[in-house]
Amino acid sequence: MARDRCTSCNATLADEGSTRFPCPVCAHEINRCYRCREQSIGYTCPVCGFQGP
Ligand SMILES: [Zn+2]
Ligand SMILES: [Zn+2]
Repeated sequence: MARDRCTSCNATLADEGSTRFPCPVCAHEINRCYRCREQSIGYTCPVCGFQGP
């Protein structure tokens, strides 16, 4: 399995505390690390460019 990286900060995701969900527009998988989730850092979908909280 490939290592997942945070979509927001590109950090390698830790085993716990990270979250992943499909982009609401194109369903591309978005990954967020614990830190970005805690700080509510936005993400940009690399496929369709959708920006979300
Ligand atoms: Zn992050
Ligand atoms: Zn998308």
